[in-house]
Order: sequence, then structure tokens, then C-alpha cells
Amino acid sequence: MSAQYLQVAIPVPMRQLFTYKVPENFSGTINIGERVIVPFGNRQVIGIVLELQDHCDVPVNKLKSILSQVNDNYHFDAPLLTFLRRCADYYHHPLGDVFQQALPVLLRQIKQPDVAPTMLWHAVEEPDSEAIAKLEKRASKQLALYQLINSHQGLSWPELRTLSFTKTQLNALVDKNLICEQPAPVTQFLWREQALQSGNRLNLSVEQAIIVTAIKQTQHQFSCHLIEGVTGSGKTEVYLQAMEDVLANNKQVLVLVPEIGLTPQTLSRFEQRFTVPIYLHHSGLNDKERLDTWLNAQRGSAAIIIGTRSAIFTPLHKLGLIIVDEEHDGSFKQQDSFRYNGRDIAILRARQLNIPIVLGSATPSFESLQNALSGKYHYHQLLKRAGKSTKAKIEIVDMVNQPTEFGLSSNIKLAMKQTLARGEQVLLFLNRRGYAPAINCKECHWIADCQRCDKPYTLHQGQQLLICHHCGSQKRIPHQCPSCGSPRIVPVGQGTEQLEHRITELFSDYSVVRIDRDSTRRKGELAKLLQEVTENKHQLLIGTQMLAKGHHFPNVTLVVMLDVDGALFSYDFRAAEHMAQLLVQVAGRAGRESKPGKVMVQSHYPDHPLLQDLVHNGYNHFAKQGLIERQQALLPPFTFQALFRADANYPSYPEKFIRQLCQVRYDGCELAGPIPAAMEKKAGKYRYHLIVQAKSRKALHLGIHAILQQIAVSELLGKVRWSVDIDPIDLSW
Ligand code: ADP
Ligand code: ZN
Ligand code: ZN
Repeated sequence: MSAQYLQVAIPVPMRQLFTYKVPENFSGTINIGERVIVPFGNRQVIGIVLELQDHCDVPVNKLKSILSQVNDNYHFDAPLLTFLRRCADYYHHPLGDVFQQALPVLLRQIKQPDVAPTMLWHAVEEPDSEAIAKLEKRASKQLALYQLINSHQGLSWPELRTLSFTKTQLNALVDKNLICEQPAPVTQFLWREQALQSGNRLNLSVEQAIIVTAIKQTQHQFSCHLIEGVTGSGKTEVYLQAMEDVLANNKQVLVLVPEIGLTPQTLSRFEQRFTVPIYLHHSGLNDKERLDTWLNAQRGSAAIIIGTRSAIFTPLHKLGLIIVDEEHDGSFKQQDSFRYNGRDIAILRARQLNIPIVLGSATPSFESLQNALSGKYHYHQLLKRAGKSTKAKIEIVDMVNQPTEFGLSSNIKLAMKQTLARGEQVLLFLNRRGYAPAINCKECHWIADCQRCDKPYTLHQGQQLLICHHCGSQKRIPHQCPSCGSPRIVPVGQGTEQLEHRITELFSDYSVVRIDRDSTRRKGELAKLLQEVTENKHQLLIGTQMLAKGHHFPNVTLVVMLDVDGALFSYDFRAAEHMAQLLVQVAGRAGRESKPGKVMVQSHYPDHPLLQDLVHNGYNHFAKQGLIERQQALLPPFTFQALFRADANYPSYPEKFIRQLCQVRYDGCELAGPIPAAMEKKAGKYRYHLIVQAKSRKALHLGIHAILQQIAVSELLGKVRWSVDIDPIDLSW
């Protein structure tokens, strides 16, 4: 007998499933993982069937029936369903929302997307032998194409294109009645050993070979490998060779990269190495393209998926290996609604599927490093740079008592001049966009603050606007001080926009380019500017954090970091770790291709032990010291944290709300709160935090569970907005 009741996950912020009836006259079958259209309130929404039941505790007359099934075969398979349920459990996030986020936008809509099935090319059953004979004489390319298609059970156009065939050649064979097109069967894995092109693989160094062997040895079981190696040490080559066997066994590979970490260079390296279909999944794609990747992943017509964090939710039923590049990168963590960490749940998924996962970084996160040191992960280090280049030297420039001009010390200016004179490029790194971080009145010291955040507005000279970097609100620049009427309103401090102006004046013989979120807003602009840098059209580069990721600048031999001091004294215990990662990553952009690079770090605290340790002993030593301190201070990764955030229009509400939660007692959990957030007021809301810390994950989760029960009965529930963040990485938000 088929089920009469369904438990359905629907996209509402409620932590429960909803029961629906199967209509009485319904004749088909409904399976777990399928999408159905259901009434909810006065709307219709797409839900996902998670359980089938033939009895029900709710009075039947209170239940509604589903409206219809979505008959498109694009449902979640059982392993993906299990994975998503585990993610929802782990992050204590509403199941319906987790499923929605895992689903491509077009499949969340009631209106069906019109997607053409992938078509495959086949050789016809009885080819005209004369036509083939003619090809042999006159058209060798067409013949090669025909033979390729003839020797396979169907090949798609993207596959043929990666093998360098053209549409014209394909159409010529169609005209000669030699090949025909058919829709691909739903599950099919199309790449084969023959399609792997390993001609241009490099001979591995001994270090690399040991890692590749170790990964291959764990091919059929869960195991986590951490590869620590500076930029240019050959990590990508290790990934590529570790993938070979997996692809040859007709299994899929998922490669996760940070938000803007995927460069055209990286992609083309994958494409040149493997002639298998590669699909991308990132925020630059439109909804249709993302759906296409999703469907090809599901059908098995995608062999390699390269994507940012949400690519971890793609349905891949033949997944054989996961790679997470730059695993320390903060962009793997989603910072709103469903606050998952793509790297962490990638490990969860690999464990569930019993497959290996490889994490790579020049600067591993303290969490991963600790797991590697304790033996939980296989720990591999690539100590030498592959190829010819040498490691960049890091030098700290003492800013105390130094004459400076535009925030640059005189010896840095000298170094810049010398570098430019050699025809090489200079990168100036300042993690503050805009013209100035504030404006104030020279007479009465009034500062233009955003009323909604109680923080200074950033001056954007180019746009002639004051913009709040916390809530985005904008305002015209006042001509007069609203407090005393003085016209003497001046910028305070320096952002990238101002630095660009100053540097342009100072080095008028050279071209300056600024690369930050403001200068790269238009689609394609970033790629264009980076290309111009590669072509040496600009000699001076000014950039924010954006420049620290992924891109290589072979001709940049001097990197100047203008401002790292903030991180040395931050109350966020991760600030020093993040500063060190940034510094080493930026240093990694310089000095490739046999030209030695140099990094100059300006600081008012040149003797600070953290800076000294990093510069003299390197990241690994710095990180191990940092781990000892974390252990002594009982901080992550030696303890486990969750952060409850609450905000409202009045400060008393969130404060009281958190205070109530602090009454909850749970063995092994410590609760700290209510703590005003670092930015106590943001976009007009007052914000309070509760930090939950436990010695074990289990205690943490049980503690959170108890807190959630308390929240469910709080009378302030309608008055405050709240969220829970498991393993938070930024406590200042
Ligand atoms: P990473 O991913 O650590 O930055 P890559 O794999 O990109 O390092 O390697 C850096 C450079 O060194 C690349 O140009 C690559 O072609 C080259 N390389 C890597 N491994 C080898 C090797 N075994 N022999 C020669 N060159 C290598
Ligand atoms: Zn004034
Ligand atoms: Zn604001």
C-alpha cells in the first residue's frame, strides 16, 4: 500500500517538517527526495518530501493535501538527503531552509524551468561506407571525429569541444548521415580512461610523489589529507595527479575554491590536463547556468565540478574525491542565514561517502593544523617551491619616529623607486577602501557618523558621497560643519582611493591601478584589470584583501603592507591568525618566476612578538605557538563554540533575551553573555551576543539544544531577531 501522509520540508524559518495528505484520487507514486507543490498559508510553495507515512497523529481533518507532484526527475537522492539532514542538525538550522539553499534557484520556483536534456552524439547503425571512404581521402579531422564518436556510447558537445573539434566538423558528419543526436539517459558517466590526457603532466618531486601515493592509497575510504605548502610549492600539481585514478574509474571530483580564488589560469590547467567535461559553480553564473551545472552533476555528465562553497550541495552520486583549495579562507563560511562552513561540511560529506578529501593551503587554519598535528588528518608538507622561484623575504619597517609621506616611510619610497626603475611592479596593500575612513571638522572635531550605526562614514571622493561601510547608507558630503558651521571639513586617515591619488602624483611617470570592491563592481572589470597588470600596462598596484587571493603577479617583486597593527591588538582571538595568513598569502604573490620578491611590512610595533615570530620563523612556527596559546586559554580548536546573536530596535530587548538564555544550565557548557556586539549598533539595530563554549562537540550540541528550547518559549520571540552560529569565525559581526 502506498503512503497516505507525507512529511515535507518547506522554505519557512521553522524548525519542523509539515504533514500533508496524498490526495485520495492520486494514482502515481511519490518517493522520498521528490519535490511537491503544497499550500502553505495562502501561498503555494515547493516542498521536499522527506518521509512517507501510512498513519498520522494529527487529526486528519486539519491536514491539507499536496497540490501536485513536480515530475521532472530532478529530485534529491538518498545520500544527498542524508547529508543535508546532517548539515541541518549540525548547524541547528531549519531543515526547510537548508534544502532550499541546496536547490538551484530555478528548481525552487513553482514555474518549471525549461531545460533541454543533454544531447549525445552517436554513430548511425548502418553508415554509408562510401561516405567514410571519402572522409579517409579528404577530411582527416572529420574522420577522427567520426571514429571517436563511433567508439563511444554517446559523447556530448562540451566533451567534443574540449577535445578541440568544431561545430562545423560535427555538422558535416550530420549532413553525410554518419552521426545522430539522442537525449542522454538520466544517469550516465561519460568520461573514460581514453579521454584522460596525461601527456603534459609534470614529473613529481619526491615530496609531491609521496603525497600523491598517500592519497591514492586511501582512495576507497574516508581520509582527510592536509597539504601545507607555500604558493608555488606544487599543490595544484598534486591535486591534478591525485585526480587521475579517480576520473579513470569514472568517478567525479569536486574542487572547492574561495569566492574569488578561481582564476582563468587555474581553470585552464584543469582543462589542459583532463579532457573530461568540467563544470563551474560560482556566484558569477546566472541561474540557468547554475542549474545546468547541477543537472550535469546529477546526470553524471560532469566529471569535475569546480565551485565556491555552495557547490558542496551539488548532487554527485559518483563522487570519488573532494579537494578544498586555500582551506583557511574565510569565504568558505557563509555569514548569514544558514551559516555553514563549506570546508567543514565537505569533510562531513567525504566521511559519509567514504572517500578521501584533500585540504590545501600555504597557511592552514589553526583548526586544520591541530587536526593534522594530532594525527586525525594525514599531514603533508611541501617545503620547497617547485620550479625556479625563490621565497619572498619579509622585512618589518619601524614606523616610530619615521618621517612619512602619505603613510609611506622614506625607505619604502626608495625601495619602490628602485623596483620601478628595474622595470618591475610594486603592490601596495591597504585593507581599507574608499578615500578616507572618516571626515571631521577642524574647528570643533565633529565627525560625520552614520546615525544607524554610530560609526564614521567613509568618504568616497570619486562618487562624491559619504558611505557607511556597515549598513551601506549614503549621504552627501556637507559643505559646512552641522555643529559649528565651519567650512573646514577634512578627511581623516587614508583609504585605497586616496592612496591611489597620492601615488599617482608621487610617481607620475608610472601607471597606477587600484583593485578593490569599488573599482571592480562592473562584471568583467576585475578580469580586465588583472589582465592589464599581467601585460605590464600598470606598474603600481593598489589593492585590498581581494588581491591576496589566487592571482599570481610574476613581475611584482615588491609588496608593501601599509597597515597590519590593528590585528596585533584586536579583541578577536583569531585576528592574529588571519593577519598572518593574509601576510603570507600576499607575500606568495611576489617573487615568482625566478625574480626574488620582497615584502615590506609597516608597523608601529616592530618588536611585537607575533610579528617577530612570523617573520623570523615562518607561518608554521607561528601557528604552532598560537596553538599552544589557544590551548592554555581554552579557546578553539581546543574547545568548541557557538554564538547566539540577537538584535532589535531597542537595546533592552536583545539584552534581556540573551539574559534569559543565560539561565540555561548544561553540564560541560559555559555561557558568556549578554555581551554587546563589537558594533553594538548597526543599521539602526542594537545587537547582543551570547557565546557558548564547551569542551566537547557533544556537550556543545546538547547545550544548544537546551537553549533553543528556552528560545521557543521566550516572550520576546516576536520582538528580537536572533540566529545561532556554530563554529563562528568572526565574533565581531
Ligand atoms: P601551488 O598550487 O602550490 O601554488 P603549483 O602546482 O601551481 O603550486 O606549482 C607552481 C609552479 O611550479 C607551476 O608553474 C607548476 O607548473 C610548477 N610545478 C609544480 N610541480 C612541478 C614539478 N614536479 N616539476 C616542475 N614544475 C612543477
Ligand atoms: Zn565644527
Ligand atoms: Zn551605517
